[in-house]
Amino acid sequence: MYGYQNKIARVNLTTGKVTYEELPDEVIRKFIGGKGLGYYIIYKEVPPGTDPLSPANKFVFATGGLTGLIPGSSKVIAVSKSPETRLISDSAAGDFFGPKLKGHFDALIIEGKSEEPVYLYVHDGKVEIKDASHLWGKGTYETAQLIWKEHPSASMAMIGPASERLSRIASVIYDTQRASGRGGLGAVLGSKRVKAVVVEPGERPKVAEPEEFQKLWQEYYEKFATDPKYADQRTYGTTSALWWAAEVGMSPSYNFTRPHIPFELADKLAGNEVKKYEVEPEWYIHGKSCPIKCARYVEVEYKGRKIRVKPEYESIAMLGAATGVFDFPAVAYFNWLVNDLGMDSIATGNTIAWLFEMVERGLIGEDEIGFPLKGFGDAEAEERLIKLMAERKGIGAILADGVKRACERLGRGCEFAVHVKGMESPAWDPRGRRTFALSYATADVGASHMRGWPFPHSLPNDGPAKELVPSLIEERDGRYITDMLGVCDFLPYTKEELAHLYSLVTGEEWTLEELRKRAQAVESMARIHNALDWVTPPLDDTIPPRWWEPEPDGPAKGNAAFIDYNDFLEARREFYRLRGWHEELGVPLPETMEKLGLPEFKEDAERALEVVKKRVEANQP
Ligand code: SF4
Repeated sequence: MYGYQNKIARVNLTTGKVTYEELPDEVIRKFIGGKGLGYYIIYKEVPPGTDPLSPANKFVFATGGLTGLIPGSSKVIAVSKSPETRLISDSAAGDFFGPKLKGHFDALIIEGKSEEPVYLYVHDGKVEIKDASHLWGKGTYETAQLIWKEHPSASMAMIGPASERLSRIASVIYDTQRASGRGGLGAVLGSKRVKAVVVEPGERPKVAEPEEFQKLWQEYYEKFATDPKYADQRTYGTTSALWWAAEVGMSPSYNFTRPHIPFELADKLAGNEVKKYEVEPEWYIHGKSCPIKCARYVEVEYKGRKIRVKPEYESIAMLGAATGVFDFPAVAYFNWLVNDLGMDSIATGNTIAWLFEMVERGLIGEDEIGFPLKGFGDAEAEERLIKLMAERKGIGAILADGVKRACERLGRGCEFAVHVKGMESPAWDPRGRRTFALSYATADVGASHMRGWPFPHSLPNDGPAKELVPSLIEERDGRYITDMLGVCDFLPYTKEELAHLYSLVTGEEWTLEELRKRAQAVESMARIHNALDWVTPPLDDTIPPRWWEPEPDGPAKGNAAFIDYNDFLEARREFYRLRGWHEELGVPLPETMEKLGLPEFKEDAERALEVVKKRVEANQP
């Protein structure tokens, strides 16, 4: 098919064999690529119940249907069973790794387990397994420099020491600054002893309608690079988001206890403060990689160390506002540090913020922590904790696998551990936006801000959450579509425009309606797998206790995430109904799978319904 290599590479680390498989057109038509293709492979090849850190789990790097082809389409999607949640999980990342991988394969599957540390070297449509013992134990910055010495034109996905120690919140880092951060997917590579996947540039796949495609490419690039409508995005990227989040009561400040904070405080970590430290090289500003270029390098000096990093909102807000450290150089340094150690900045910040609250409440002290800790705002302690978590030493051994396991290990504080299904909340408190908490409650991977935002913006007390469910579903489909196509969500394409561009690439007629159907199919497929594993939707599609506490002040004062529990249940039921899932059990109906063009999943849907029904009955008093 045009736009694809029509080829998958499979590396079996146990046998040391590499094989190449054709990717059939009918699989592409059903699952598109990226997240869709990755979920399909994991569904088919990794049975529910598989231990994510065992050799039986697999790891997929999948490129999207448009990866590397249109402006702002740099995404690669990492997919595996998450060591943090045991759900099928994906985490997307940008920069050059995805487009380079697309020059060789549509997906790379890594399975089994190597005895010794290795890296995979992808070049000329082949994969070689190479010794990585000289890289094992090293941070990602040093690893990257050593790899670039040998392979100067390559891009790489790599892991840091946190993944090597199987931290369930470890990330995959790309070329030092981008990450597949969520779900602890880095630990899967760590368990397989894969230090890095190194990819040389390859050959871009052919496009079916090159003339029209090239014309549109140019038009979109010019529009996004120059239209004043997107000036704010181009100037600040996501770093101005804390201004808005703090103003409307959606920031994660002080472990989500003060979602509204004054502008002057938010300003210490946002927009112009970040810009003060910007040191963007000319080649980046004027290069043609992305017309928006939201992520910019900053250079800061912190405690005598000069570091360069590309910070964005989630990392700044979770390593700064959530922990109460409103000092940009310190937070930029923490961001650099978690990248070097290979840790999810969201989960790390969330877990440390929780510990700070524990200290403030007098629920833990120096005897258990091992050193004096003041609570929120203690930058010294935050730096120490990040390092201890990556090393699994002292209190770090308790915190290393995220907030849910930390509170369970200590046996206290779970009522203010802010996570869904074991994955930490990102930097958006849903009490400042009606129906948004339902997105967290029903997202495939746990608490993710990338699974749809209901619109228009209003407060939970402004009306029934159910009213905004159709908009959440529209947005949910949109996010799946961009993750299947490999396009960045910050690029202001309409979804109809993406369908048109995809049609020009493939030479086949794609409508938005058809793309939405594929999105719904992939979401339903993941839900069946997760239900056959451990998820009981009526019990697990829920939100943490903190979001039932009304906000203390600001414009959302008095709002919890929903008007009341019944408001939540009605909205959830409506969500299930509109998805074609069982209204009470939250599992896709067999006829829905048929309608979505996946009749081969009907039997599994029936089994999942049975399993969930039994679990619910067993849970009844
Ligand atoms: S908008 Fe930002 S995240 Fe998206 S492709 Fe451009 S630089 Fe990358």
